[in-house]
Amino acid sequence: MLEKDSGMVIVLSGFSGAGKGTIMKHLMSRHPDTYHLSISATTRGIRDGEEDGREYFFKSKESFEQMIAAGELLEYANFNGNYYGTPRAYVQEEIAAGRDIILEIEVQGALQVKKIFPEALLLFVTPPSAEALRDRLLGRGTESEEVVAQRLAISARESRLMNEYDYLVINDKIEDSVAQVHSIIQSEHNHTFRR
Ligand code: 5GP
Repeated sequence: MLEKDSGMVIVLSGFSGAGKGTIMKHLMSRHPDTYHLSISATTRGIRDGEEDGREYFFKSKESFEQMIAAGELLEYANFNGNYYGTPRAYVQEEIAAGRDIILEIEVQGALQVKKIFPEALLLFVTPPSAEALRDRLLGRGTESEEVVAQRLAISARESRLMNEYDYLVINDKIEDSVAQVHSIIQSEHNHTFRR
């Protein structure tokens, strides 16, 4: 059998409410030794049930801008009025150690990552329909109708960049999507010559 090659940078994007966070949670709990998740920094407010340092490193605008100035972020973007960015050090450590690192980020950031790591694997998660997307965002209950409307408008813009991605994952049943994401990543490990 071939030895597993070096670690990959995997980017998982998708519309807000498409279920990428849920896919990630299942993937990590099912394969804790296989995948490592990058924890982003953000200036958005902490939601109920979130913990600083677990979902995000929650920052003030000033300290986020200091991180930008110090070159501590691999990429960053403004999403719906808040900064989000990937701390550079952890990603570099994981790559150097030959581990797979997953970045759950939006499209502007994903395209920056693709420039830095042209061999990165980019996956885009969509819900099965526009109605499903709206229902999921409203059903989540963490956002006001206004924020939901803003996020839907962003989704429409993001969909224009979907063709920059390597794979589209249509998230209908969560179990199927988790299995699909895992098998895409594993098969990419066996096809490094295609790049
Ligand atoms: P939320 O506020 O729902 O947690 O995230 C909003 C959006 O920001 C999602 O699309 C999420 O994937 C994206 N995001 C989270 N962390 C990062 C990051 O470090 N960089 C970028 N560019 N986007 C991020």
